[in-house]
Amino acid sequence: MFDKILISRCFLGENVRYNGETIPLSHPLLSLWQQQNRFVALCPEVFGGLTVPREPAEQQPNNKILTISGKDVSAQFNLGAKQALTLCQQHNIRFALLKESSPSCGSTLIYDGSFSNQKITGQGLTCKMLIQAGIRVFSEDNIEQLVSLLDK
Ligand code: SF4
Repeated sequence: MFDKILISRCFLGENVRYNGETIPLSHPLLSLWQQQNRFVALCPEVFGGLTVPREPAEQQPNNKILTISGKDVSAQFNLGAKQALTLCQQHNIRFALLKESSPSCGSTLIYDGSFSNQKITGQGLTCKMLIQAGIRVFSEDNIEQLVSLLDK
């Protein structure tokens, strides 16, 4: 059986992003992995109960997640992150392919909390929880590393 991969739903072209735009990931292996039934897809924010579209949200220095108007959506983000971990445990998933810079899915960069388009080194909440559980998280920027680790 092939390694399963937890994947950000927005990578599959699904309309789950905060601004309602779709930006599917383009990679030659994506359709092969779909045929091999490798993907378990999740949008943590939608699973947590947030709508499409929704206000942009950023992680704050105190680790709360606030929307641009100041609404605390930490609980929704937490719920989605826990569901991602549950899915990984249910499907014995060791690898995740998540969208970079998202406050949920980002794995090396996130926005700095000031809503001024500034990125800092950091991880989104879902990514953080998965890494703590030993799951290796990759993004569109280092997908080739994931390719080299997967069973063929
Ligand atoms: Fe994509 Fe993750 Fe943002 Fe959902 S939370 S839209 S899956 S980056």
